Amino acid sequence: MSQIDSLPALREVIAANDLSARKSLGQNFLLDLNLTAKIARQAGPLDGCDILEIGPGPGGLTRGLLAEGARFVLAIEKDRRCLTALHQISNAYPERLTVLEGDALSIDPLQYLTPPIKVAANLPYNIGTELLIRWLTPPQWPPFWTSLTLMFQREVADRIVAQPGSKAYGRLALLAQWRCDPQIVMSLPPEAFTPPPKISSAVVHFTALPAPRFPADPKVLERVIAMAFNQRRKMLRSALKGLGPDIEDRLVAAGLKPTERAEQVSLEGFCNLARQIQRT
Ligand code: SAM
Repeated sequence: MSQIDSLPALREVIAANDLSARKSLGQNFLLDLNLTAKIARQAGPLDGCDILEIGPGPGGLTRGLLAEGARFVLAIEKDRRCLTALHQISNAYPERLTVLEGDALSIDPLQYLTPPIKVAANLPYNIGTELLIRWLTPPQWPPFWTSLTLMFQREVADRIVAQPGSKAYGRLALLAQWRCDPQIVMSLPPEAFTPPPKISSAVVHFTALPAPRFPADPKVLERVIAMAFNQRRKMLRSALKGLGPDIEDRLVAAGLKPTERAEQVSLEGFCNLARQIQRT
């Protein structure tokens, strides 16, 4: 196994800083630096890019990102027990790592970052989906980031890349695939983490497309998708009846059958429908 940097091994860092993992913070640490460097490489070339990392913990992925050449990393960590270890990394890579202590859901990172910006993280499972939805539904497109390279529970990764007709297909797949190209690029067994979680994990790489695959107003599309999948077992004509008395006509005008169910409708079908709903 090759050394990626001259800092202490992560097991030593964890012992020295008493970083026993806390379930409430979604702490499942990656201690193999060759593995974290491999995850960092999934984000593509890092030189010339700023990286936003959520939840660096003891710094395994942070060290991978820096060793792989990231121009600058902004790391946001809620657990202050991790700060000493993270400051040691910052000293080893002068001017290239800033650590903010706090909740990633309430910190605006943009003032610290210079484009091009990539996001890379082994996300805490309890806020992973919420952060992803925020990154996928910004006020403007293209977003502040050019790519996201994110570790999720395998079940969430499967929902992101799911295709129509599958149980996993729903809001997450549609939001992700409308304006990005999401791909599962690595699978990790529970034993890759300390402590091991109950289930497998996967890294998903999202490339932001310059424009949506099909035209639609984001707010209308999000509303249609949310309503359709809220009652996914129902036919579209009843799941969507709150959208107006003429919903059947609009479904037909969008090229959809009113008797279809949400999980059979393609991304293009939902975008057609969003345009029909917007028509006055
Ligand atoms: N990146 C490290 C690794 O790969 O070993 C740790 C990943 S661990 C799955 C998730 C990390 O997110 C933990 O360090 C945890 O303390 C941190 N965290 C949990 N909730 C957070 C929040 N709301 N904001 C920022 N960090 C959070």
